[in-house]
Amino acid sequence: MKKLIEGVLRFQNEVYPQHRELYQDLATTQSPRWLLITCSDSRVVPSLIAQVGPGEIFICRNVGNIVPAHGEVSGGVAATIEYAVQLLGVLHIVVCGHSDCGAMRAVLHPENVAELPAVTRWIAYADRARAVVLETHPNAPESQKLEVLIQENVLAQLDNLRTLPSVAAKLRAGTLGIHGWTYDIQSGGFLAWDQDRGRWRPVQELAEPSGDAAA
Ligand SMILES: [Zn+2]
Repeated sequence: MKKLIEGVLRFQNEVYPQHRELYQDLATTQSPRWLLITCSDSRVVPSLIAQVGPGEIFICRNVGNIVPAHGEVSGGVAATIEYAVQLLGVLHIVVCGHSDCGAMRAVLHPENVAELPAVTRWIAYADRARAVVLETHPNAPESQKLEVLIQENVLAQLDNLRTLPSVAAKLRAGTLGIHGWTYDIQSGGFLAWDQDRGRWRPVQELAEPSGDAAA
């Protein structure tokens, strides 16, 4: 615990004083514009990779960045999304998968987590993505299967997201955008799913003048 406590003390003594006003403004209110749904993996550090500060991004994390479809389970993920959409009024939801995802590896090889009943039940929500990969890439090398699975899982979770009543209503009203991204830990690269073109594109293309980046 020593390193963790030292970190907290460094935050208190060095970081907090530099941003005292911001923290005081945020003490009783928040109005994040984005909800990020991503994996619990320690190598995915949202505020670092998105370069956002306190109060800017609402985060929902779980093993495998999974969103159970409406009615499948009434748990923390659905509650977090409903809160962000209905109460905080986030403008965009990004589901972000990542390279070398242990959860996705377990989806490909459930036998490796057979002794972990909670994980086994949870990653079953990625069965759809697994089926797609096994059908479309039956003979692909393991690394490619994993890469495709990570992308297909994001797409499957985007579809699940659309089944949540709060999300469906805002999408219909045109007041919410949902986006699928993947993050490559080794290169720092991001791919974004282009729904119109039906393909993954480097996220920097969205930032170009002809891109479709919004708020
Ligand atoms: Zn992961």
